[in-house]
Amino acid sequence: MPSQKLPFHIAIVGGGIGGLCAALSIHHHCPKDGSIVIDVYEQAPEYKEIGAGLGIGVNAAKLLHRIGVGEDLNRISGHRNGIWISFRRYDTGSEIVTVPVDDRQEIRQSPVHRAEFLSLLFDHVKQRNAATLHINKKCIELKDQGNFVELCFADGTTTTADLVVGCDGIHSNIRSQFRSDNPKYSGRMCYRGLVPIKDLESWWPFDSYSVSWLGPDKHFLAFPISRNTLLNIVAFVYSDDDRTKESWTATGHRSEVQKEFESFDTTVRKTISFMNENPSKWILNDRELLDQWVYGDGKIVLMGDAAHAVSSQYMQHTI
Ligand SMILES: Cc1cc2nc3c(=O)[nH]c(=O)nc-3n(C[C@H](O)[C@H](O)[C@H](O)COP(=O)(O)OP(=O)(O)OC[C@H]3O[C@@H](n4cnc5c(N)ncnc54)[C@H](O)[C@@H]3O)c2cc1C
Repeated sequence: MPSQKLPFHIAIVGGGIGGLCAALSIHHHCPKDGSIVIDVYEQAPEYKEIGAGLGIGVNAAKLLHRIGVGEDLNRISGHRNGIWISFRRYDTGSEIVTVPVDDRQEIRQSPVHRAEFLSLLFDHVKQRNAATLHINKKCIELKDQGNFVELCFADGTTTTADLVVGCDGIHSNIRSQFRSDNPKYSGRMCYRGLVPIKDLESWWPFDSYSVSWLGPDKHFLAFPISRNTLLNIVAFVYSDDDRTKESWTATGHRSEVQKEFESFDTTVRKTISFMNENPSKWILNDRELLDQWVYGDGKIVLMGDAAHAVSSQYMQHTI
């Protein structure tokens, strides 16, 4: 039976953005003399993200720079042309407010391609030997054994750790051991797509590619990713219909997006015409706020969407 002796074993459940950031942060801030051993247990057969954009705000970018991945982050995020984002009216396209950004700042807003960002984190974990990365390890149960925690996996295997970090996303198994709440439909869904910026260059009317058109009960967000080669599009719609299965692989049809946004400015309508015929379709779920994220006398902690999913709160950009 493990004791309080070193090395101290940390098990991170979930190898998404949260899990890999946690591995790099713990490794960065702790002694590298072998006294801390980190394992990441991912349920999927590979460490992979979907092809969509992710806006990394300045506070998150600050932490990423602190753990030594800032240079690579800036490399994959591209440039903003002095404008972080321009908010516009949905019908006329007229400016509501434009938010400037100083692109010369080392630490800045960083819009990235999710898959490129995850792969960057993965490479840093590997290069630094920060953690052992496991695949096909779906954690189904934790057993508090007093001085340590036993992790049980769907394949019938078990392991132990002194500290478990639950980064297993919005449907967290780890959270469900301590809370009986479920993800709740937020009343919003979105269509997502990527359009090559070279296809838009000849007619795009704005100084920047980061634009959000705000309308009643919907908004249309675009920002460039992949070193300004792709325009990431997220078209948000309020809908009482939560029949869309929550999935990162569900798709809709471009004609649905066209219909939803038919009252929007011509730039929006033209941009939609460049979207893939089958854009991905996400319903947006929320979770109740927890009053505690730490359990098992400090041996189990929740992080990321498992602790505080935020899908709808920060997407309420409507007029
Ligand atoms: C439409 C949309 C747009 C968004 N845009 C932004 C944005 O621009 N900026 C931003 O900061 N945030 C954004 N977010 C939120 C952001 O995507 C999430 O907060 C973030 O991805 C959460 O990371 P995570 O690692 O906690 O969870 P996830 O990314 O869900 O990763 C969880 C990982 O755990 C694995 N896993 C699950 N269960 C188990 C298990 N039992 N055992 C082992 N492994 C398991 C999964 O396979 C996955 O790899 C957006 C969210 C949505 C829905």
